[in-house]
Amino acid sequence: MIRPQPMLYRCPKCGWKDVFAPKSDMLIEKPWEACPNCGGHELECKPAGAMDVAVEKLSKIFS
Ligand SMILES: [Zn+2]
Repeated sequence: MIRPQPMLYRCPKCGWKDVFAPKSDMLIEKPWEACPNCGGHELECKPAGAMDVAVEKLSKIFS
């Protein structure tokens, strides 16, 4: 089984970003249609690195 690749989504307008980690290998292309912070539709998407995932987990623990 292939482990799903976490994806880092970022809004260039307001700087919002979040890591989307699929629970299965079912392909979900766009977990966010628009930025939940400012509503911008131009979300950047790239494979999340190990650092991105670690930072995301820490930010959820400490927020
Ligand atoms: Zn935004």
